Amino acid sequence: MSTWKLIGYGLIFAATAVVLVIGMNVPGQTLFRPLTVGVQIAIAVGVALVLSLIYAGIDLGLMQDQTALEPLRVARDFNQRADGVMDTQALANVVGTMLADRLRIKHSVWLLISPAQVNLALQAVNSHGPAPVEPLIFSRSNPLIRTLDTDRQPITQKELEADPRFRQMVPAEQEWLSKLGTAAYVPVFDSGILTAILAVGPRGLRGGLSRSDLHIANIIASQAAATLKTTRAVTEIRAASASMASLLEDLKQKNEAIVRMENSRSDFLAIASHELRTPITQMLGFADLLGSMVHDDSLDKETVAQVTDSIVRACGRLNEVINQILDMSQLDLNAMDLRFTTCELSHLLQQAIEPFAHAMRERRLGLKITGLKNLPPLQADEQRLTQAFSQLMSNAIKYTPDGGKIDITLRLLPPENGLPPQIEIVFIDAGIGIDPQHHDLIFEKFQRIGSSSQHSTSTTRFLGAGPGLGLPIAKGVVERHGGRLWVESQGHDPAKFPGSRFYIVLPIRPPAFDPRALEADALASGAEAAKETRTALPRANPFVDV
Ligand code: ADP
Repeated sequence: MSTWKLIGYGLIFAATAVVLVIGMNVPGQTLFRPLTVGVQIAIAVGVALVLSLIYAGIDLGLMQDQTALEPLRVARDFNQRADGVMDTQALANVVGTMLADRLRIKHSVWLLISPAQVNLALQAVNSHGPAPVEPLIFSRSNPLIRTLDTDRQPITQKELEADPRFRQMVPAEQEWLSKLGTAAYVPVFDSGILTAILAVGPRGLRGGLSRSDLHIANIIASQAAATLKTTRAVTEIRAASASMASLLEDLKQKNEAIVRMENSRSDFLAIASHELRTPITQMLGFADLLGSMVHDDSLDKETVAQVTDSIVRACGRLNEVINQILDMSQLDLNAMDLRFTTCELSHLLQQAIEPFAHAMRERRLGLKITGLKNLPPLQADEQRLTQAFSQLMSNAIKYTPDGGKIDITLRLLPPENGLPPQIEIVFIDAGIGIDPQHHDLIFEKFQRIGSSSQHSTSTTRFLGAGPGLGLPIAKGVVERHGGRLWVESQGHDPAKFPGSRFYIVLPIRPPAFDPRALEADALASGAEAAKETRTALPRANPFVDV
């Protein structure tokens, strides 16, 4: 019984005795007045004593009753609050609120224990807000865990600090625990196995915890054990179903990739055989014609020149298609070696555009180039970059109707994140445009929008098509320069011609390019040789993982 309770009972006793003595001396009262003061006091003390004892008995009895009821109340309260709780964070919140309401404990953390090979992984779940610490692997011989497991009793921080065994704890584990700001650790068991620890903070700001506080915390923790088991099972099921969903998604994507590959293989067969057969058929036809003309003795110089010219053109086309197929396979195998030299963009563009001058005149296509002035030179493989520009030029010509307009704009972009400055080159046409849903697809090999039956082989005719390798090769070449290539277009409309914009962004020096290699080259084999043989990027694409 507390001192305050004793003082309380004493005061009740004294007050009752005084009231009784005053009552015995009330005027007109005949029963006690005639008695002497000593007898009156004796009677008052006796009666007050009896009344105080009766009151104390009732009070203590009630109190005992209340103490006996407390665990039940706590358990009932917890069960009501934890009803329907399905995740560990929500459970931690309920426990945190109960500890705050019942014991004025400001914070608590659940330490969830899971086996991690020979060790134990401890994950902290805060009652409110994010976890105070990252999960940590604890050794099974950690003295705190071992003591909680064997004693099955809460341990206060004070006890922990006083015990020399705990000072032998691994420093990282000690530091991890100290970040929790715990006043006591309450063990939680599932079928006799320590599965979690409820780390409760101090009362109020710094107050320690009494035995009865620990008792209540223990009741809350043991009530939470069953819910904890459910929430952990639910978490595991959710994680399993999430990983199953991601596996399914993975499988779906792989399946789609296989279907795409399968389609592109059959497309390849259809397109390649068409692309290869057309020039071969033309060559056979012209050779046949020459043969019969020789036979008829009707050959004249002019006809021979015309026929051989057509045979040369067919051979050129055949060569072009075979080269594209070879380039694509080099890119697929990461085996395209680039020879970097210092290039002027004006020169590269001129080389890319010149071959189309005749076709553009024939089809009355206008061309405007802006922003070429004041651009710095860039390190690039001249031949490959010209090939990429030439492909975009050819496409702009093919998909723009006769009399249309093509723009090429260039500008220097400011350097970003300490990387070298970049040059942006945009090919803008006023052609049929590309549906946004095909913006990625057209950069995949053998992908051509529209049916292959409408396919007419040409690099300049309106709507003429190739084997569907031009853009994937251009993209591969640009990416191997450390750049990016993408398209923007509002949509496909062969009547209104919304047009397309193909963007190339190139760093003036590719990330893996080391100018010292150039100097070393120049010193080793003379300046002339160095001009020709520049540093090649390593076979494995260095930008893939950057
Ligand atoms: P191809 O060898 O058939 O020209 P590409 O890889 O160059 O193949 O282009 C793939 C497809 O992208 C083309 O078949 C066409 O449908 C579309 N395409 C490319 N460039 C343009 C453009 N400038 N305007 C409209 N469509 C384009």
